[in-house]
Amino acid sequence: MLGLMQSQPLLISSLVDHAEHHHGEGQIVSRRVEGDIHRYTWKDVAARARQVARALDGMNLMFSDRVATLAWNGYRHLELYFGVSGSGRVLHTINPRLHPDQIAWIANHAEDQVLCFDMTFLPLVQAIHARCPGIKAYVALCEPGKLPADSGIPNLLSYEAWMGAHPTTYDWPSFDENSASSMCYTSGTTGNPKAALYSHRSTILHAYAAALPDVMCLSARDSVLPVVPMFHVNAWGIPYSAALTGCKLVFPGPAMDGKSVYELLEEEKVTYAAGVPTVWQMLLGHMKPNNLRFSTLKRTVIGGSACPPAMINAFNDDYGVEVLHAWGMTEMSPLGTLCTLKNRHLNLPADEKMKIRLKQGRAIYGVDMKIVGDDGKELPWDGKAFGDLYVRGPWVVREYFKGEGGDPLVNGWFPTGDVATIDADGYMQITDRSKDVIKSGGEWISSIDVENIAMAHPAVQMAACIGMRHPKWDERPVIAVVKRPGAEVTRDELLKFYEGKTAKWQVPDDVVFVDAIPLGATGKMLKTRLREQLKDYKLPGT
Ligand code: AMP
Repeated sequence: MLGLMQSQPLLISSLVDHAEHHHGEGQIVSRRVEGDIHRYTWKDVAARARQVARALDGMNLMFSDRVATLAWNGYRHLELYFGVSGSGRVLHTINPRLHPDQIAWIANHAEDQVLCFDMTFLPLVQAIHARCPGIKAYVALCEPGKLPADSGIPNLLSYEAWMGAHPTTYDWPSFDENSASSMCYTSGTTGNPKAALYSHRSTILHAYAAALPDVMCLSARDSVLPVVPMFHVNAWGIPYSAALTGCKLVFPGPAMDGKSVYELLEEEKVTYAAGVPTVWQMLLGHMKPNNLRFSTLKRTVIGGSACPPAMINAFNDDYGVEVLHAWGMTEMSPLGTLCTLKNRHLNLPADEKMKIRLKQGRAIYGVDMKIVGDDGKELPWDGKAFGDLYVRGPWVVREYFKGEGGDPLVNGWFPTGDVATIDADGYMQITDRSKDVIKSGGEWISSIDVENIAMAHPAVQMAACIGMRHPKWDERPVIAVVKRPGAEVTRDELLKFYEGKTAKWQVPDDVVFVDAIPLGATGKMLKTRLREQLKDYKLPGT
């Protein structure tokens, strides 16, 4: 017997409809590429998203055709999120920090038909358009008066003229909720990138889950600043969850430096912010020397890379801001786990609570996870056994776009490429990317643990631990360190700092001071590149 409830497809257009009808006055504030602040409401987003949909119809774009963006976090990008997907096309957010060759490759692989871009990326578009014959129109996210006269880009339109020519009325089409809605290529440090192709259903389920109290805890009373880019896994789904909850959205545009982010947090009374550790590093680096405080910020979700304990401490102890450590990946829309305490942890001593907060957290309802040993057998949830982390769920990829890379699943589970422990309470902790794990004398050393200790030293701005070949132990850890400007620490002082904080054999053999740690397009440390940079390095005594 089937249930007798209504069946309505879960479609992204319903999110913006909801926001318009129930939170129409809710504000969207954006720092624009032009540098000024733009303000309007969810009502405006909805009206303009409908104009976008009409403009795409006017170009004769078919169902599922791809519309690409090269854009910062801002209101026009938000309109494209809803206008493109809501009208049945697929929004392809491209990471502008990728190499132009890779961007051209991605645009061709995705078969993008329209490319919308912020004017910051005009030189990038000029560099690639000749290699992207499939793109039939380029839309610059600006007023008509700002279009360059001689850009050399064919069919270049101004966004405002293009969509502004259409009425704000539009009936969103209804279709199968499993239809593709957006896509995002993985950063792929080896080989060509592969795309996760999200559906309306996966996006809406993820948006519901992301808003839950033990996840991002979003509400109509929040003012939310996603520093995490809208070109990286849909800004962790925040634009969708924001429409669902009606929270205020504050977009930083291209200005992600500590000073600009701090000003926006204060001026827009932001209660909740989300980003990768490197962004928060810049923010804290700006606040401390200037003796600044937060007046409204309560929570910040940090993910994308392991959050160093020193950062959790600084937010918590110095500024009274709760850090929520999150883990996920492009292939997971992206949220998998988030770290919040359980009721019975509340009275634990501070250092015990800290040990929990450092973990990547508990699985969100909708995500199943397991850890598996080298023999393929599932490992116990005891907080000690570590193995390859596998996930499954309705917002986890089943297959990459165009079947690239073959079937990624193993007995229905997606191998994340991360190595983790899970404790009896279900808290997962990443010890490494599987390719970054260091094996010394048959024992595994977690590079994240080694990095976290170095990061707690006041003179250290950033630290990356890699394994170096060793004739006796196979591999030994070495820590590459960027010093804080003006701060001093010697190799021996830093190695001494490890004493008592970890087992002796896990202390790195050496410290290499570097000017910068190479970062990938999403702000993650690129250890492959660091290894290349240090290819002539020799461990002391070898
Ligand atoms: P991406 O698909 O670019 O978002 O990268 C996903 C990968 O980032 C994961 O598989 C992890 O290796 C890493 N990652 C994400 N969040 C965290 C975290 N909180 N701690 C450690 N690694 C993380």
